[in-house]
Amino acid sequence: MNTQCISRFAPSPTGRLHLGHAWSALQAHDFARAAGGQFLIRIEDIDSGRCRANFVDGIFEDLRWLGLEWDGPAMVQSERFGVYRAVLDQLIERDLVYRCWCTRAEIATSAGAPQGDEGPAYPGTCKGRADPGDDLAYCWRLDTEKAGFLPQGDVVLARKDTLTSYHLSVTIDDAAQGVTDVVRGNDLTEATHIHGLLQSLLNLPTPRYHHHALLAGPDGARLAKRHNAPTLESLRESGCDPLRLIDGMREQRFPFGFALMEA
Ligand code: GLU
Repeated sequence: MNTQCISRFAPSPTGRLHLGHAWSALQAHDFARAAGGQFLIRIEDIDSGRCRANFVDGIFEDLRWLGLEWDGPAMVQSERFGVYRAVLDQLIERDLVYRCWCTRAEIATSAGAPQGDEGPAYPGTCKGRADPGDDLAYCWRLDTEKAGFLPQGDVVLARKDTLTSYHLSVTIDDAAQGVTDVVRGNDLTEATHIHGLLQSLLNLPTPRYHHHALLAGPDGARLAKRHNAPTLESLRESGCDPLRLIDGMREQRFPFGFALMEA
């Protein structure tokens, strides 16, 4: 098996997969297969409030239906909190993170915070702040000034109850799975800067990144669950032929007026 190219599809089981997921999985799958490499799956289920076990089953069912075969057992993030915790402890020890007790509303109203994809850049209010007590909720933020400049502000790396975050887990796990090529939607292009910074802080290799265009609905708006994008389950139940669907998508032909979004 070629280990020169390893890609992955890393869905979060917060709902059934839709056409946008199929498009993303296909990109990552075909990228690896074209290079004779491996295609891996990772279930990104650290958010226990939003993730459901039946959606995990649905992911495997839908990928099998599409005929996208993956290599080896899937990595499951909810089984890896101990790993993330150990890395967070290391960052705490190196004084590269600090606790932040600000509420979303407080951050939103903080003066001059530039608005990015992840909300306003955090202006560092809690840096050096003593524990206010009262057992308040808090998160751990990366001290980007110490870590090297980043325009994003001090991103959240973990929460009081969930001792990790998307950024921390994704960085650790891409390295743990030996991923050489991250193929994912261009909504995550900005996040790549954060992942690069974490890779250098944690001494992890930096994979190659390939961000693909997202699917848009017939109205031109980005395909998301809230737009009632048809799920793969509903397509299957309505008798859709997965081979035709996948072959069409390989030629950028999509059903129901879906199309690639303009960059
Ligand atoms: N779990 C993320 C999602 O569902 C994808 C993460 C990634 O590809 O880096 O959007």
